[in-house]
Amino acid sequence: MAAFFHFSNAAKPGFSHLTSQQIFSIKPELKLPKLASGDFYRFHTMIKPAGAQCNLDCSYCFYLHKEDLLQQPKMPRMSESLLEAHIAQYIEAQGGEEVVFSWQGGEPTLMGLAFFERVVELQRRYKKEGQRIENDLQTNGILLDDDWCAFLKKHNFLVGLSIDGPAELHDVYRYSKGGQPSFERVMRGVELLHKHKITFSALCVVNRLNARKPIDVYRFLRDKVRPRIIQFIPGVEPVDFRGVAPGYWNPDDLPTVAEWSVDAEDWGYFLTRVWDEWFKRDYGQVFVDQFENVISQMFGYGAQKCVSGKICGKALAIEHNGDVFSCDHYVYPEYKLGNILETHQGDLVFSEQQKKFAYAKSDTLPAYCNACPYLELCWGECPKNRFIKTPDGEPGLNYLCRGLKQFYAKATAARGELSKRMQN
Ligand code: SF4
Ligand code: SF4
Repeated sequence: MAAFFHFSNAAKPGFSHLTSQQIFSIKPELKLPKLASGDFYRFHTMIKPAGAQCNLDCSYCFYLHKEDLLQQPKMPRMSESLLEAHIAQYIEAQGGEEVVFSWQGGEPTLMGLAFFERVVELQRRYKKEGQRIENDLQTNGILLDDDWCAFLKKHNFLVGLSIDGPAELHDVYRYSKGGQPSFERVMRGVELLHKHKITFSALCVVNRLNARKPIDVYRFLRDKVRPRIIQFIPGVEPVDFRGVAPGYWNPDDLPTVAEWSVDAEDWGYFLTRVWDEWFKRDYGQVFVDQFENVISQMFGYGAQKCVSGKICGKALAIEHNGDVFSCDHYVYPEYKLGNILETHQGDLVFSEQQKKFAYAKSDTLPAYCNACPYLELCWGECPKNRFIKTPDGEPGLNYLCRGLKQFYAKATAARGELSKRMQN
């Protein structure tokens, strides 16, 4: 089982450049067993330095309600000592040439620039010899200004900007606490990112409404936002997601979805319509992560996204107070692994509880999925969306299944043409 949790290649860098004082400060002690020479541990933790706090109030946010669920303070803030413990442990537990820090929320820019100046300072201090530290920041773009952009550029942060299409689609669900639309302010952020030549991706939540306008959304992102990568994320939550953790649904009374959730068939419609335009016109020029991912899988290079992998569990979440959860979408008390002030983060990530979570992705698939022609491209998609029954009544089917099938039929039909294009 452990083989799925570590990677193998060059020699692991050592701790030789750290002072004994620095090594001593990495508490609690890491107990992970040593791996064979050339093997190393790798994982990814999304950091919530400002907890669930945000300066917007989007209808479909899956995180805002954590404020009540986890009883967070009014202004949750990661302390400097917690930040240092996280950075030290995160780096200590991982080998390999690259360690990626992902700053999320809530809205991470609420922490202010001084916090992030400290982040890069601490990363520099704890970095192992020969190791590269990368940062990405997921933001709604509202607080971006020239100072922020100069910082992001200087330290090579990859920015993920949330934007759901042109104003008439974006503003339906993405607004401020006072109900003010956010589109104009997000577009000001887009201009600043371009002005400072910052690499960014656009994260578009495909919801009940914009799913029916795939070409409008895609062309807007491609031509007006012009990000390096476009990511489409299906907006899906059961109606009771604020109180009921995924997997804890009553099988005799499975939930319906929140009203803004994308319809399953519309998800397929959206992806296949965008695929057609992209395949005809933009292949090799525009990067849509969904499409790159399925092509990578079809040609034997494996899944680049956790949702379509056989196992997951290597993308965790850490809250502002050091609590670690199995996944960003599983920040519920039932999926808490522990706190990094009590147990080293590396030991939490490779714990039996997390391994069980990881393997459940394929171990708990219904027979309907195991017999599906697209199984090896889909693996039942994300378990958080598995709250409907199969046609023969078995629980555990993914709500998006009908749309996923449409998309996989479209992508696999292009296999021959893709092979030809790859040879040229
Ligand atoms: S639970 Fe879903 S989002 Fe989380 S790691 Fe697994 S597949 Fe990815
Ligand atoms: S497409 Fe549907 S049936 Fe096939 S593996 Fe995915 S969720 Fe299961």
